[in-house]
Amino acid sequence: KKITIAIDGFSSTGKSTIAKQLAKELSYVYVDSGAMYRAVTLYAMQHNFISSSFFDIEGLVTSLDLIVLTFKYNSAVGFAEVYLNGMNVEKEIRTLEVSNLVSKVAEISEVRKSLVQQQQNMGLNKGVVMDGRDIGTVVFPNAELKLFMNASATTRAQRRYDELIERGDKVTFDEILKNVEYRDFIDSTREDSPLVMAEDAIAIDNSNLTLEAQFEKIYALVLQ
Ligand code: C5P
Repeated sequence: KKITIAIDGFSSTGKSTIAKQLAKELSYVYVDSGAMYRAVTLYAMQHNFISSSFFDIEGLVTSLDLIVLTFKYNSAVGFAEVYLNGMNVEKEIRTLEVSNLVSKVAEISEVRKSLVQQQQNMGLNKGVVMDGRDIGTVVFPNAELKLFMNASATTRAQRRYDELIERGDKVTFDEILKNVEYRDFIDSTREDSPLVMAEDAIAIDNSNLTLEAQFEKIYALVLQ
């Protein structure tokens, strides 16, 4: 029987890595909800609704209906990539610039309402692994399995730093660490759906777990 798996946690805790592994093993659909908040942020940047010095919230909110997000499976990478109004934006949404603005966009209730609705529609048929910040609390409160991932801030920043350097982005470890801590703060203190662990979620700290050990541990939970 297919189930719904909700994976939440702080920034760069390896949520998407485990979510992708599980989806592959179970032949489930993987949905990266953070990619949706990032794509809306990219749209807001492209249309001058947001920058590091201003945020035209109303302009963005009135444009929400013009933002069409879709996912398309790419067999070369093994997961579904996000498209913003028909354009593949998988790479653009991962820049530090987007990372520095996305939590501000994710604070807006209208944005959350719209994305949560779309996320719930994607889960109607079960067989979904979704990762984010509010999946077990708001999007799928009835998910059969809820995980809450954590790791030390330096471990997380180091992982994110390695990823961006590998892509060729020019970033420093310090600015990544700052971004990770900044997003965690905004995400866990915002008024609408703050990042909290669902009461029935299972906490996993993977600071000292290899990917294999982590997968084994979590896959055993799926089979229960
Ligand atoms: O998962 P990722 O780090 O890509 O998410 C980017 C940002 O999007 C988070 O820092 C958070 O502000 C926001 N987000 C959210 N709710 C989700 C997923 C992401 O608020 N379900």
